[in-house]
Amino acid sequence: MGFFDDIKKIKTQIENIESTVYSGKQSLMEVYERNARLEAEIAARTRDLDTANRQMLTLQHIWDMMNSSKPLTNVLSAIVNSLQGELGYLHSCIAKTDSDENGEFMQLLACSGELFGDSFVDYFKCQPCDLRLKPHSIEELVSAIENGTIYQSENIVDLISSVVPDFSAQVLTKIIEKTNTKSYIFIPLAYKHSHFGSLVVFSSREIATETELNFLSLFAKQIELAITIADLFQAVKEQATTDGMTGLYNRRYFEEFIKKEAVRANRQNQKFTVIGIDLDHLKKINDVYGHNYGDIAIKAIADVLKKSCRSIDIAARMGGEEFNVILSGVDSQGGMVFAERIRKTVAGIELEKIGNITASIGVGTYLEHSEDIDELLELVDHAMYESKRNGRNRVSLAKHISETSWQEVAIDTFVNILSKHRIPLDIKTSKLLSKKLQEMNINNEMLYQVSDALVSTYNPEHTDGVTKKKILLASLIAKRFELPKDRVDKLKIAILLYDIGNTMLPKEILSKKEPLSEEDKLTIKQHPIIAAREILEPISAVVDIIPIIEKHHENWNGSGYPNNLEGENIPLESQIILIVDCYFALLENRPYRKALSKEEAIKVILEDSNSKWSAKLANEFVSVINDEEV
Ligand code: GH3
Ligand code: MG
Repeated sequence: MGFFDDIKKIKTQIENIESTVYSGKQSLMEVYERNARLEAEIAARTRDLDTANRQMLTLQHIWDMMNSSKPLTNVLSAIVNSLQGELGYLHSCIAKTDSDENGEFMQLLACSGELFGDSFVDYFKCQPCDLRLKPHSIEELVSAIENGTIYQSENIVDLISSVVPDFSAQVLTKIIEKTNTKSYIFIPLAYKHSHFGSLVVFSSREIATETELNFLSLFAKQIELAITIADLFQAVKEQATTDGMTGLYNRRYFEEFIKKEAVRANRQNQKFTVIGIDLDHLKKINDVYGHNYGDIAIKAIADVLKKSCRSIDIAARMGGEEFNVILSGVDSQGGMVFAERIRKTVAGIELEKIGNITASIGVGTYLEHSEDIDELLELVDHAMYESKRNGRNRVSLAKHISETSWQEVAIDTFVNILSKHRIPLDIKTSKLLSKKLQEMNINNEMLYQVSDALVSTYNPEHTDGVTKKKILLASLIAKRFELPKDRVDKLKIAILLYDIGNTMLPKEILSKKEPLSEEDKLTIKQHPIIAAREILEPISAVVDIIPIIEKHHENWNGSGYPNNLEGENIPLESQIILIVDCYFALLENRPYRKALSKEEAIKVILEDSNSKWSAKLANEFVSVINDEEV
């Protein structure tokens, strides 16, 4: 710790000077001169001590951040900002070195803003993968990385152009001069004994002193420690079974438990009931009294659950203000009694400031409402939303999985389409799909596979598994709009079928060698929608689905097709399909553009607020994408 030693040395020096001054006899002049020197010395040392003090406070601040288990990026942002803010550097950033099949690249983990202007920072943030580090064009940096040593240089232009080739040297020189940047200091970072990335600090001074470099290496050690701690936290979090805030089980544990419980239930032919509980109006509580009071309300519900459960029951916090309880060996009748007791107890709570709170509850029973866990949880969720729709503070029982579940309607439709040869599929695909459909145990997974296979016939970029994600995402969004179960079911079927018309695009247009005429383009745009009607119309079970599909290219501002519908005239289901379809298309490669990252796709979605879709839908969409693991 070089600079701590320096501080000690400084202190000893001051003491020595003091004792020299006050010992022995000196002439008045000598004393005066010594005093003047002493004063200057003390002023300089005070400045040094002040800097050291600020450095220590900065380290202390970082240490506190690390102990508060904040996400790594927050800690790293605090680190770069303290370097810039308190220690007078112009700009600093922490980058991680990564590699993929295209070679090495740098990903910016944290970056202090301002210096090179926001657009420059944006460039770094938006295109991490484009920071191709030509295994460094700067030899000294390569050896600094290899030896784990600090490197400083005044050649900022070379550094930046080795990472971002888009800026010309001229432009860079101008930016650098304008911001008065004189040099940079490059400190390699190690993690688990190998190169992790680097801390780069831009300074307005030409050369850094030894003490400064010592401090920066100490700083780099703190960053390495932060990375190690974040990694440990992650590992610990992954092993945890309880929710830190309430002490209830967490979602991970719940999901494991319910799987085992289903196996047990099947073996012993014994039912179990799932109770889904959602605190009402938490947002309002947060807004009016603050987040801390919101937390108090959440904990109050957790306490009720803890007190009401038997030792064999499992109460879990699924996230936010959502709880699930599993009652082993209890049927729906018993489940309803339990749920009603929970509802009453919650409604009877009197919290300081907030007053009364209420919860909406859904109840569903395994082997009674469904024999599939995912489906059961979905039904419980629907029941809970029914309680919300009917005025909150109530309990609803899940509906039986009826003869016409959405999966069965979808299967019937697929079978119908395939058996009547309504779409020109090659024999192999057609056979494969039919076989899958004839398999026992109709379940969601199989439906998704059939749909994925269908889409692959006209979209070579389609990735398997996307249909499932689309359905999940669309259902979550629909829930935000409190769409009732029957409409959500139709939406799910529509997702499976909305692009089926693509299989019927006229061959003569697709095989055209010459550029397409305006008329051809119009056909390509409109035909799939017309074809979908043709394919689906004879199938009575999906008659309701056709209008949803027909309108899934209409835009909120009236610029869509085929009928230039706008605003509320477009069914919400069609709007949801449009936004979900667009999002997943953005994540896929296209002949005219590369696949976008999740963040880039979200940006595009938000840009189209009020044009393609309503701002409300775009916001809910982004919130679902960010809140749920979709
Ligand atoms: P509803 O009655 O329809 O359930 O309304 P609501 O306000 O409870 O539900 P909504 O889903 O609109 O909002 C939930 C809010 O809960 C949004 C989110 O910021 C907040 N929230 C999520 N987790 C926590 C938490 O751990 N603590 C606090 N205080 N708030 C949370
Ligand atoms: Mg709520």
